[in-house]
Amino acid sequence: MRVQQGDFTLEIVQGDITKQPDMEAIVNAANAQLMPGGGVAGAIHRAAGPELAEACRPLAPIRPGQAVITPGFRLPNRYVIHVLGPVYGRDVPSDRILAEAYRNALKLADEHGIRSVAFPAISTGVFGYPMEEAAEVALKTVLEAAPKLRHVRHVRFVLFDERARRIHEEVLARLQATP
Ligand code: ADP
Repeated sequence: MRVQQGDFTLEIVQGDITKQPDMEAIVNAANAQLMPGGGVAGAIHRAAGPELAEACRPLAPIRPGQAVITPGFRLPNRYVIHVLGPVYGRDVPSDRILAEAYRNALKLADEHGIRSVAFPAISTGVFGYPMEEAAEVALKTVLEAAPKLRHVRHVRFVLFDERARRIHEEVLARLQATP
């Protein structure tokens, strides 16, 4: 699914965030220490190679909502933007912190002149954020931020499974229907 807002494109696909060669940056749902771990972070570090953890070390720790940027190393993407999402119900208000994570990632991308960014569903894995609530915050935040961005023109949500993709498509359709 793909929606157009002026010359800005928002896209929802099912797939693997490490296999998006046409995107200039991918976003990592990182932990505070910016270490490999499991989930998306594990997959990104595996694909990028050990240089990524090396580059992350001096940037850690980060706070919930914060974003930092590194090269993509062996990934097909020029950059990785690492953000720390909220642990649902522990880092509160979780919705505000999740929105901040998306905004800060986009702002950092824009400051680096990046035109395309792929996001996973931040906080919806081990951090326990319910998929539908997270999708609403994520999609709303990106659509609201889009007009203020000078360089970022293409945002892709890469959802790992069918259910997550369907939920994001339903939420986006609803947001489009009720502006
Ligand atoms: P968090 O700690 O922010 O919850 P996780 O990595 O545990 O981060 O999960 C975030 C989301 O990313 C989950 O919905 C998970 O299914 C999804 N995910 C896991 N691996 C990948 C991948 N390779 N590409 C895209 N999404 C992924």
